[in-house]
Amino acid sequence: MQAEVITVGSELMLGFTLNTHSQLISRACVPFGVEVTYHTSVGDHPDRLAEVIRTAHSRSQFVFLCGGLGPTLDDLTKETLAEVLGETLIEDKKWRLRLEAHFSKRKTSIPTNNYKQALVFSSGIVFPNEKGTAPGLSVTKDGVTYILLPGPPSELKPMFETQVLPFLNHVIQSKDVIYSHPMSFFGIGESALEEQIKDLITSNDKLILATYAMDIGVTLRITVKAPSNELARELIEPVRREILSRVGKYCYSEKGDSLEKVVIRYLGLNKKSISTAESCTGGLVVHLLTTVSGASEYVKGGFIPYTNEMKENIVGVSLKTLDEYGAVSKETAQQLAEQTLQKFRSDFSISVTGVAGPTSSEGKPVGLVYIGIAQEGMSTDVYELALSGDRERIQQSAAKHALFFLLERLKKGETTI
Ligand code: AMP
Ligand code: MG
Repeated sequence: MQAEVITVGSELMLGFTLNTHSQLISRACVPFGVEVTYHTSVGDHPDRLAEVIRTAHSRSQFVFLCGGLGPTLDDLTKETLAEVLGETLIEDKKWRLRLEAHFSKRKTSIPTNNYKQALVFSSGIVFPNEKGTAPGLSVTKDGVTYILLPGPPSELKPMFETQVLPFLNHVIQSKDVIYSHPMSFFGIGESALEEQIKDLITSNDKLILATYAMDIGVTLRITVKAPSNELARELIEPVRREILSRVGKYCYSEKGDSLEKVVIRYLGLNKKSISTAESCTGGLVVHLLTTVSGASEYVKGGFIPYTNEMKENIVGVSLKTLDEYGAVSKETAQQLAEQTLQKFRSDFSISVTGVAGPTSSEGKPVGLVYIGIAQEGMSTDVYELALSGDRERIQQSAAKHALFFLLERLKKGETTI
């Protein structure tokens, strides 16, 4: 079986975007016995795209078309394909409702342009997009199956893995299972993670390793096609172990769990309690912890001492420390954590103090955050972070860092659970 990958977008032609989709898709086709014979990139130009599609139609059984499913006028992949194949596009009522819900959740009305994203092939298949507004599509004509995917990697990668691979498996009538193992990382960026495991990504024909940048953190999925789940796990195991030996300190879950859920599980395993004192995160750390069921056994509570007055009067930070070093300082973070530990009589405490922005404070830059981790009978650690992004992102990132630092304390050398 022959396949080809057509990537669409003028940004690829201009050299602004590196074409990573051809690599991902080609590697994934190998275990299916599908041979990718051509990679073509073409700009947002319907005539040229039509020409590329006609050529592909004459020589391949599978054609992957990536990009050009956006709402803007230059996004014309499905319209061009429909014209070349003589197929009609119809409105998918369910997707139209999803689009409307997507925008009303963001409290904006749906731009007219976006309605075209609800158009699908009348005789085709729709792959729902969990991360964006463009659904993936498939249509078959004259024995050629087209698979259309949205351009943004954050949308294409999960759609490809969770929907397109099982679809491909079904179309080629394979009896094998598609098995996927998720590994969640924090404290390492997507490209740094890829760099560390680059050789593993390219050295094994049977495994597909793909990284996904999440809102905060990175997920790596190892996917394999095998006769059974058990055999799939056996194939994955050596690579999984190798990854953990290289970057295991950043891996907090292999079950798709959130950082807060893993923290609560570790508090439970160690039978330890936690309290917090949060200034710039306004209670986000304790909120995240309380989203996990069973948290009440381990979370004692938290202070939100937003002003210096409250840091002094409610928590017990000394006026001298606040005057000398400021509210956003290593010293204040340390006292916040230690005083909170005492007041709540908890086993651990977390403190967060920083500048969430958009304006600097005390002459300190936006994104400067101190996190203290205090533990009964142990010395207190204070971490200094220089975070970037808007106010909300800085708060989210600070809260997740706090949970991750606590987890490092709780883990005592184990890698994941
Ligand atoms: P779309 O609106 O579907 O055309 O997708 C546009 C977005 O996807 C842009 O951010 C592009 O940089 C990105 N993109 C499109 N094609 C590729 C590709 N082949 N590899 C990586 N990123 C891509
Ligand atoms: Mg585009």
